[in-house]
Amino acid sequence: MGNDDLVTTRLETLVNFFREKGVNWARKNSLWPMPFATACCGIELMATGASRYDVARFGAEVMRFSPRQSDLLICAGRVAIKMMPVLQRIYLQMAEPKWVISMGACASTGGVFDTYAVVQGVDQFLPVDVYVPGCPPRPETLIEGIMAIQRLVEKEGIRPSAEREKGMRHVVQPTYQLTMPTAAE
Ligand code: SF4
Repeated sequence: MGNDDLVTTRLETLVNFFREKGVNWARKNSLWPMPFATACCGIELMATGASRYDVARFGAEVMRFSPRQSDLLICAGRVAIKMMPVLQRIYLQMAEPKWVISMGACASTGGVFDTYAVVQGVDQFLPVDVYVPGCPPRPETLIEGIMAIQRLVEKEGIRPSAEREKGMRHVVQPTYQLTMPTAAE
């Protein structure tokens, strides 16, 4: 051939490369959330999709209200015991691989509603991957949670949730800073 530089590879290496760099890249940039908003946190979830925060920048603006078309369950707000079977059914109807964000103090711990009627943390019934703290969390915090899911997708790839067991239990740290107006303003 007249060319001393001969590159050989294995098909398996190529397949793994495209799976990690192609499928995972596409998947992480096209998360389709299934919103399960039951209370005030849902308003912040809606604000995240509006133009000011524009979650479309992260490819996650396609809110699906059908679990069969979703791969990211965002549970926002307190969940009553009676609603828990509904939430579980929605999760089970979502196709694998799928991820779960618990948004806000109520979804993660029951918040101030320490009563017999409110679930004291949806992770008792669902494999939560990322916890977004706050009461309510600001849209920036939810976006950080979505970015944490993106990092998981990149790292974990297409492993189903049963293999990932109870999720990664990441807790998002809010990164935004309050800015005080100066005297000139
Ligand atoms: S965490 Fe706060 S804002 Fe969110 S649902 Fe509970 S009370 Fe409402």
